[in-house]
Order: sequence, then C-alpha cells, then structure tokens
Amino acid sequence: MEKKGILIVISGFSGAGKGTLVRELLDRYDEYALSVSMTTREPRPGERDGVEYFFTDRAHFEETIARDGLVEYAQYCDNYYGTPRAYVEEQLSAGRNVILEIEIQGALKIKKKFPESLLLFVTPPSAAELDRRLRGRGTESEEVIARRLARAAEESEGMEAYDYIVVNDRLEECAEEIHMLVEAARRAPVRRGQFMKEIREELSDFVKGVQG
Ligand code: 5GP
Repeated sequence: MEKKGILIVISGFSGAGKGTLVRELLDRYDEYALSVSMTTREPRPGERDGVEYFFTDRAHFEETIARDGLVEYAQYCDNYYGTPRAYVEEQLSAGRNVILEIEIQGALKIKKKFPESLLLFVTPPSAAELDRRLRGRGTESEEVIARRLARAAEESEGMEAYDYIVVNDRLEECAEEIHMLVEAARRAPVRRGQFMKEIREELSDFVKGVQG
C-alpha cells in the first residue's frame, strides 16, 4: 500500500451523526486522523477551542485565507468554516488517512484540488429521522433547526458529487462500512500511482534482461 494516507471527506446533513461516527472510527482504527477546522461561529455549550473547532473572528479567518493557510474554506449559515493546511499535510505524510468533516462546497473544492480524495456522504435513513435528531440535540432554536432542514434539502441535490452514500442507521456498522470503503478506495489505481510506477519499471527491467 502507498505510504501516504488518503484524504477522506465526510459530509452529510447537519444532524446526520457525522461527529459521533468519526469518533467511532478514530477509536476503532489507528490509521485515521481528524482535521480540526477553523470557524467564525460561536462555540455551542461544551465545545472547546482546539477540540471541536478552532474558534476565531472574521478578521483572523480572512488573514488565514490570505496567507494560504487553508486547504479549503466555505461560508455556511453566515459563518466561515475552513480546513487548516499544516495538519493535513503533516498527517498525510505520516501515512494517516485524514478525515475532513466538511460541507459540500468545501468537498467539491477538495475533489478538484485532490482528485485522489475520497468523498463520502452520510445520511440518516429518512428525513423524519433527521428532524428527530436535530431536535434531540436540544441546543438549537426553532429558527436554526428550520434553516438546517432547508439547507439539508439543498444539499441533498449535491449527493451525486460524492463517491459513496453511507446510511448512518447503526453506529458501529456504519463505522465499519466506512473503513471498508476506505480500504477498497486505497486499492484503486488513482491512489496506487507509486506502486504502478514501481512495478512497471521492474517489468521493463525484466523485459530488457530477457531481450538482452
Ligand atoms: P456546525 O456548525 O454544525 O458544526 O457545522 C456546520 C457545517 O460546516 C457542517 O456541515 C460541517 O461539516 C461544516 N464544516 C465544518 N468544518 C468545515 C470546514 O473546515 N470547511 C467546510 N467547508 N465546512 C466545514
């Protein structure tokens, strides 16, 4: 297998359970690293700076854009969200698969910049279940829930851009399914450039040897 890890984008409706799913994946397997995004949104109760997000203001966010410190960024519900570059590059080089838990505009930018990235879209089994999960969180106002549902309807139009749609019904099964997809994806030619190059060179040496 290639030494470098792969970039995995996990998107899905707000309330699809991406966060819990990603934590399950990190707990189960060693080869994943989670990128912590930078955002201008206010922390929710219990969120810690540097853990769920790096919380910052618009001026600092825009400075970071200007010095090319983000791999991608997007605006979502009036706030900026972006992926810091340094951590992603460091972890990929260390051979880990880096997970970006980002929304669709960012996902599309990542696919364009890194065609070998793997794009997964996580969804609950139904819209009713999504509504239930959003309410169950208990931290959002009616207005925010309505905006997130409207956004989900919009985002559902973009699902074709992803490599796989993963239904998050049972957490453990879903984490395993994602791991299996990642393992399969790592074997695709687009992610095995180094191996293909090496074996072609070896074969060419053999052919020359035989002919010489
Ligand atoms: P929330 O405010 O619920 O934590 O996140 C809102 C949306 O922003 C989610 O869909 C989340 O995946 C996305 N998001 C979080 N970090 C990033 C990021 O760095 N870049 C982009 N493009 N989206 C992000």
